[in-house]
Amino acid sequence: MLDGNARGVPSGAKPAAMNTPWRVGEDVPWTVSWSGESAFDLQPSTDFPGFLDLMQIESPGVGVPRFGAMNISRHRRAMVQHLCHVCGRPTLKKDRYLFPAHSGGMVTMQNGSQRYGGNVPGVHLACARTAAQRCPHLSGHYGRPVPFPKDEGRLVQRTDVLPGLESLAAQLPKRSDIVFGCYRLFGEAFSHKVRSMVSARPD
Ligand SMILES: [Zn+2]
Repeated sequence: MLDGNARGVPSGAKPAAMNTPWRVGEDVPWTVSWSGESAFDLQPSTDFPGFLDLMQIESPGVGVPRFGAMNISRHRRAMVQHLCHVCGRPTLKKDRYLFPAHSGGMVTMQNGSQRYGGNVPGVHLACARTAAQRCPHLSGHYGRPVPFPKDEGRLVQRTDVLPGLESLAAQLPKRSDIVFGCYRLFGEAFSHKVRSMVSARPD
């Protein structure tokens, strides 16, 4: 196992007035990384054959949450298996939503067209509403949850070192087949919808 501080993001200290434990699935999304999850390993990927998965130890609730960083192992599992970003339970097609105007981004294809790449797993509608209540940036018209499209797109692995993982990457073997993360590349119709939402967003 390799030791390393995953993303170097500030710890999620709770305001003094809210001196209660963090609750995964309520005020901390299930995929968020915790300060106690600081050991890593590599293993052959089952989701991306021929690649190596970067694995992060899973001890949600140990230490403090590192908002802004997702546990690499939980994130990948959620993206592949459609587990809810907020609560970690499976989502069914009829109850799976995204906040595409607030996460992910456009990916330029070889032919110059652009597709939406989503890097946050879908959420249940009830969990989306919980998140919108907790997160001010998700409020308002453009923060509304959007139904996950029928065309699920395809998963794409990222073998470039993602922001925040530089110090960890420096401890790893120099290989080009390490999967640091993944995203879901959506089709043209949903990409068009997201592009319209983003361009109409007031901020
Ligand atoms: Zn949920």
